[in-house]
Amino acid sequence: MTTKNVISFPSGGNKSHLRDKTLLIPEMNRTGAHLLAATFRSFGVRARVMDTYKGLDLGKEYTSGKECYPCQVTMGDILHCIEKEREDLGDSFNPTDYIYFMPEAEGPCRFGMYNKYQRIVLDSFPGLEELQILSPTNSDAYSLGDLLAKHQEQDFRKAAYFSMVVTDILDRLLWRIRPYEREPGMTDAYLERSRRSVAHTFEIYGRRKLFAKIMDKLEEILEEAQSIVDPTIAPKPVVGIVGEIYLRMHDHANQDLVRVLEKYGAEVVNASLCEWVNYVSYDGLRQAKREFVLNLKQLRLEPMKASLRKMIGFGGDLLYKEWRQRKVYRRVRGLIDIPEDHKISHLEHSLKESDLFSFDLRTEACLSIASVFEFARGGYNGIVNVYPFTCMPSMTTSAVVKPFLRTLRMPYLDVPCDSTIQPGREAAIRTFMYQAQQHFNQ
Ligand code: SF4
Repeated sequence: MTTKNVISFPSGGNKSHLRDKTLLIPEMNRTGAHLLAATFRSFGVRARVMDTYKGLDLGKEYTSGKECYPCQVTMGDILHCIEKEREDLGDSFNPTDYIYFMPEAEGPCRFGMYNKYQRIVLDSFPGLEELQILSPTNSDAYSLGDLLAKHQEQDFRKAAYFSMVVTDILDRLLWRIRPYEREPGMTDAYLERSRRSVAHTFEIYGRRKLFAKIMDKLEEILEEAQSIVDPTIAPKPVVGIVGEIYLRMHDHANQDLVRVLEKYGAEVVNASLCEWVNYVSYDGLRQAKREFVLNLKQLRLEPMKASLRKMIGFGGDLLYKEWRQRKVYRRVRGLIDIPEDHKISHLEHSLKESDLFSFDLRTEACLSIASVFEFARGGYNGIVNVYPFTCMPSMTTSAVVKPFLRTLRMPYLDVPCDSTIQPGREAAIRTFMYQAQQHFNQ
């Protein structure tokens, strides 16, 4: 979609250089948002992470309640941010000074509609029609079109991807050490400090792709982690989290799910941020291969060439990501025992073996279902599926994995979320953790 103010790439239309504007980034994963903003800043873009969840009332006021919960939360984030800017800047507030970052995804679910809906709401406020939305899409692996100078695009993509791998490492570190910390609060304080210092290194070295310097900083941080762990605390049941990416990552929206699980005795491993990003390249390659075969059968030369170009593009992208991710994990796992991330091809293979779902159906369901199989085989003691109330791919996941896990006697919990506080939620988590502990003791 390209309207006056929703910039869809790479279809053209209203392209403007980001460096004159402030790019407003919503906070889905706290570390991820700050590292991405630092990477943008390293490329000369004035990027800022918006406060999150403070504008939830506004988000609710300007949605009907039928939208996906992340749409409601992010709606509130942007409205709150603009309201605050207006208050702080008074007459010098100018909506054209900002670009709101809201990626989209094609496919059989509603993520692709967030930016369209939010555009309609912003347009209903006098003046905010001029506030642009930057919406890179998965159909071209989240290309930024020509918003950055052409020669910077590839470098930016590499640095941004690297920031996501580092985000996953820091998250995995947090989940690995917090249940075993010497004193309550030590890990959170240490992680907040580390997040700031890593963001600083991205700002300095990101544009020049001096990733070795960033890795040196990361190693320093990991070495410090050893001093937080109390070696006398016994190992705990390990719980895997799958589900919808926003809810998995956003602590406010999932009502601090990881912390509540830890409170009742779990060590948690959440699915990663890179999982989705790698899947986008993998799925692009898959679709391009299908197109190629179809065109070959019909002997259509030009479309064949086009799909071959797409295969090379998505394939190269995927190879690079997997190589980069492997390299970082290898170095980090020499210092601290965190779980490795899975390859998407491995997940597809695992789904094919089970014959319970197919990558052809796309969406996060194929990732979540396959991850559940991986967790079940990998010695985990329980699995949680967290998602926005009414989320289609996550409810599909639930329907497919429940009978499978029942046969394995593996504890499983669905955690649907909206902004309400469910009175029985903590009791359900406590019961689930009791079962996970029994599974662990077996
Ligand atoms: S994955 Fe779920 S929450 Fe996200 S857009 Fe799709 S239906 Fe909505």
